[in-house]
Amino acid sequence: MHKYRQLRTALYFIIIIVSIVGLSILSTRIWGGKPEQPQKRNVLIIEKGMTINQFGEANALPNTVLKEVFNLKGQPDLGRTLDEYGSPEQITSMVTKKLALASEHASKNWIKIPVKFGLWFIYLASIFVLLKKRNITSGVRRALLFTAILIFGVVLGSDPNPMGTIKDAIYLYGTAHVIFPPRMVALSIFLLIVFFANKYICAWGCQAGALQELIFRINQTDEQKAAVGRKITLPFALTNSVRCAFFCVFIFVTFTWGIDIIGPIDPFKIYKPTQLGLIGGIFIGSLLVASLFIYRPWCHLFCPFGLVGWLVEKASLVKISVNYETCIACQKCATACPSTVMNAILKRDKTTIPDCFACYSCREVCPTGSICFSSRKRTFPPSDHFNKGKKDKGNV
Ligand code: SF4
Ligand code: SF4
Repeated sequence: MHKYRQLRTALYFIIIIVSIVGLSILSTRIWGGKPEQPQKRNVLIIEKGMTINQFGEANALPNTVLKEVFNLKGQPDLGRTLDEYGSPEQITSMVTKKLALASEHASKNWIKIPVKFGLWFIYLASIFVLLKKRNITSGVRRALLFTAILIFGVVLGSDPNPMGTIKDAIYLYGTAHVIFPPRMVALSIFLLIVFFANKYICAWGCQAGALQELIFRINQTDEQKAAVGRKITLPFALTNSVRCAFFCVFIFVTFTWGIDIIGPIDPFKIYKPTQLGLIGGIFIGSLLVASLFIYRPWCHLFCPFGLVGWLVEKASLVKISVNYETCIACQKCATACPSTVMNAILKRDKTTIPDCFACYSCREVCPTGSICFSSRKRTFPPSDHFNKGKKDKGNV
């Protein structure tokens, strides 16, 4: 029986990865056209006494860009010299900013993005209603995760995604000192979802998050044990320190050298496999194997949105809370929680409550229905609550 479970888990894992990679290659070809990543430009050629026309030709700049940067009124203005508009550094900065924005705009698929957000709303709202009615079981959870991966990852691609919006916003500002307004709208929507309902977008809608969660769940028995190997729960102090350090290094390297250290290892590229290099492939492969044993390793150890979302989550309107009047202190919820968060909620370790991914495992196992996902304020358990639970268990 045990061997059969192990084989089944290994088989599911392989089928999931092979199908995602294969179908994503197909999907990318069908969508075609837009690169979804802005083109990188070489350093601008600029010489003293150059006219705007010569500058445009030397750098292959379209007239529309020249017109906007230099505020040209007509053809004769192309003969004006660059010196009239400022120093070479000022002109380089103006043109770089304009090109960065134009490149961002050209890289986006403006049909796919609103469709994706529309579907995200419908999908997340449906799950919200479903969860409110407490109709979720392990099988339903897996089906929902699989649906999210298929729709938001395989079919609609990796872009946009919660992590990418924050990472690309920082990178663009760090390298070109500009803000791309549509990206800020997307980021605000993602953060508003966190503000409204915990890490709901991470739990059910994020392409990489749902994939890690599904892989973790296929290696889980009904008794919350690992079918293959052993589950590893890393302390939050460790995972959050690594996540903070990684975020700081990313910002430092971006602003100092203009290098995007996340790009090559971006786990969302599993939905864009043709853009993956050797390092990225090895990193993502290892991450997915680790997801069998560790709950959401990318989210906890590296994701910039995971970190920012964790901070916003502190003010979430709707979140998991426990009713201690009906709670019998059995702590089944803490055992079922794939992370350390339910344990922290029960103990009310206020300063370090880790990320809660609104996965509902805790509610699924609570024998008295004492856990809810609502706007109810989290309260402290009575001081002897868990001692009482131990005594009660001893008396059974
Ligand atoms: S924390 Fe995880 S689920 Fe949330 S955006 Fe990052 S990768 Fe996605
Ligand atoms: S089991 Fe409960 S407390 Fe733990 S992550 Fe899931 S919803 Fe949050």
